[in-house]
Amino acid sequence: MSLRKDAVTRLKNLLYAGLVALALMLFAFLQPADQIIWTFQSKIIDRAPTGDIVFVGAERDMADPRLPERRLELATALEELNRQGVGQVYIDIPFPKTSTPEADARLAAAIASLGPRAVLVDQIERSLSGEDQLNSTAASIGLDTRRVVSRRTSNWMGFAWEREYAHNVQGRRIPSLAASLAGVEDVPPGRFQVDYAIPSEDIPAIGLSEMTSGNNVHSLAGRTVVIGEDAGLSEMQQRVPGNYSVPFSFVAIYAAETLKAGRDRHMSALPALSIFLLLFAACLILARDQRRRYVAYAAIAAFLPASLYLASLVGVRLDISYCVAVILAYAIMRSRARWKNRMALVDNETNLPKLQALEEAISPDLHLRGHIVVARIHGYEHVLKTLRRTDRAHYILKLVDRLRAADGDLKIYSEGHHLAWHSKQEDSALLAEHLEGTRAMFAAPVNVAGSSVDVGISFGVAKLDGDPAVRLAAAVAAAEESSEALQPIKLAESSSRFDELWDISLRARIDEAMEAGEIFCVYQPKIDTRNGNMTGVEALVRWQDPARGFIPPMHFIAQCEKAGRMDALTQYVLEHSCSAGRLMHFRGRSITMSVNISATLLSDMRIVGMVRNVLQATGFDPRFLVLEVTETSRIGNLETAEMVLNELKALGARISMDDFGVGETNFETFFELPFDEVKIDRLFVANITKSAKAKAIVASIVGMGRDARIGVVAEGAEDHETLKLLTEMGCTHVQGYVLARPMSLDNLMEFNNLKDNGAREA
Ligand code: C2E
Ligand code: MG
Ligand code: MG
Repeated sequence: MSLRKDAVTRLKNLLYAGLVALALMLFAFLQPADQIIWTFQSKIIDRAPTGDIVFVGAERDMADPRLPERRLELATALEELNRQGVGQVYIDIPFPKTSTPEADARLAAAIASLGPRAVLVDQIERSLSGEDQLNSTAASIGLDTRRVVSRRTSNWMGFAWEREYAHNVQGRRIPSLAASLAGVEDVPPGRFQVDYAIPSEDIPAIGLSEMTSGNNVHSLAGRTVVIGEDAGLSEMQQRVPGNYSVPFSFVAIYAAETLKAGRDRHMSALPALSIFLLLFAACLILARDQRRRYVAYAAIAAFLPASLYLASLVGVRLDISYCVAVILAYAIMRSRARWKNRMALVDNETNLPKLQALEEAISPDLHLRGHIVVARIHGYEHVLKTLRRTDRAHYILKLVDRLRAADGDLKIYSEGHHLAWHSKQEDSALLAEHLEGTRAMFAAPVNVAGSSVDVGISFGVAKLDGDPAVRLAAAVAAAEESSEALQPIKLAESSSRFDELWDISLRARIDEAMEAGEIFCVYQPKIDTRNGNMTGVEALVRWQDPARGFIPPMHFIAQCEKAGRMDALTQYVLEHSCSAGRLMHFRGRSITMSVNISATLLSDMRIVGMVRNVLQATGFDPRFLVLEVTETSRIGNLETAEMVLNELKALGARISMDDFGVGETNFETFFELPFDEVKIDRLFVANITKSAKAKAIVASIVGMGRDARIGVVAEGAEDHETLKLLTEMGCTHVQGYVLARPMSLDNLMEFNNLKDNGAREA
């Protein structure tokens, strides 16, 4: 249950972490981080360019109208390109102003001679007033050559992560340089991502002067050439990941390469975050224990770089900074929770760790040996009332000092009036001896705040022979049961296999088990030893759990009580046994049916209604029903119990006092309540052949029954000698393994037939 609670808390933490990330996203807070991640993503793998696009860089300002020779130089370069049979030439340098008529004419002629293979790139620039202006090549130079546009925008970090397919110029949509370079003429609306996985130095580039001097080694036939300003020519610089100064035209070339390769996809922050949160939540739900959770955390942490890598492979840009934010926020929340948890484990008055801390310390180690000791301080309520807060802590710490007298390093845990520790001593007797010594040290009062306070101390001890957490609980319970006068050192009962099994989930299974028939009744015959006839049977409940095997009734009856399911269990047994009894009667065997009734059910009238209803429903003759009251010492109020029993008798049932003589059964109960029968406990019956005392007790109970005119049944006869002795004493109704063991209804029928035949033969 607490596991589930933990899981819910973790999921809540994740939800809050997700909300934090969403809030950050709303203000685009982590955009810089994303850009750094994109830069990194661009560098994860190096791609090769197609090589179709070649950049020709002008090392000087070609458009200066005062320098006509530069236009002539460009014209020469264009002629050279024409001669080589270039595919296309984009002139990414506008010439808005005219120079000398000769130079302009020569340039115009060189452009014109390229025909449709030449494309002029006009620049959209932002004027100081904030309006867009077109910086375009003069008509006298460009004539009717095809034009595309370009806008050199980069964001505040100097990167150009996106480009437009086209721009609106004076009401017309004109393709962008990038789209045109990629051959995307039929321009879709909007923008696309630019992939920078190609190292900038791998983009084919030559200098313009190299071309005109005739010693260029590149063959430009059939290729697309972009003529633009070389890097560093203007004051502004263009950045791309991995290079802080590239020619402006490179962005368009990168963009064109991206479009050609289809790597223009982008997974934006919101879908990335959603997917990540879902995966994270799934991991939290699936990883139920701590070890698996750590594996899941590692997987989640590794997931981000892995997805970055994969996304780079397929050319998708990822926005994962908000996912990183989720991890960080989640980690902070978890460590805060852990810190708080740790704080919760310390008593803030004494600074001693609490009992829960002891539980956490010992729980993981199932092989831990020794004992858990819990000291109970008596009169602590008085201390609470009379001492101030700080003095109270002093008081406890003084007690701790005394406990540590023998072992200075003893780690002591404290909570309320309990002080607890783990003792390595494996021998219970030696430990008890040691604790007796410790108790002696507490005989003297403690001095706190000028007054002396008496100390009463007793101990609960549990041997570590099972689940440590369960043993700690047992030690605490034992400490509560210990008493200064009667039992200053109480050893908790040893843990059996079954204690460990009794967890809450099993308690919750009681109802299911009844429904599934895993809980059922067996019947143990009672025989009249004078003639060997079966006079009745006792219904005994059994639980055969498919996973845990056989669970003894004593164990799960106690659990039924704790879970408040005693009524249900009793009703279940009553229904089954009365039906069985009716069946036996139907077969002609008028035997009694004894059903065990826990004394705790005698505190109100509900049991009466229950018995009445069951008798009605099953049609079993009430005169043959015997109700065995078990653990009679637990009858809270004798008057109420008497009323309840009288009502039950009024229905026709008979009442038996079970386990007479053991536990805290007493004569007062026997005297006050209207019993029709006593059952001598098997402790005495089983011992009559060995012990004179047991024999005397049994004899006296038999005599008492005879004198009081009530029936006596001896249970637990295991051999013939016992049977013989019992018969001699005049105890003729006997139940025990020597006669018959508890058996299923089917076997009981068979047993009945045998008895029948036996009776007839005799
Ligand atoms: P009990 O009512 O005293 O039942 C008699 C117990 O003695 C049974 O143990 C039975 O199997 C055992 N027994 C009979 N003959 C011998 C023998 O010769 N030798 C030995 N060593 N044992 C013998 P079981 O079935 O384990 O039941 C234990 C106790 O559980 C019962 O003691 C009764 O107090 C309780 N119980 C069983 N069924 C129910 C039930 O339906 N309701 C309630 N409230 N308690 C039940
Ligand atoms: Mg009984
Ligand atoms: Mg009994």
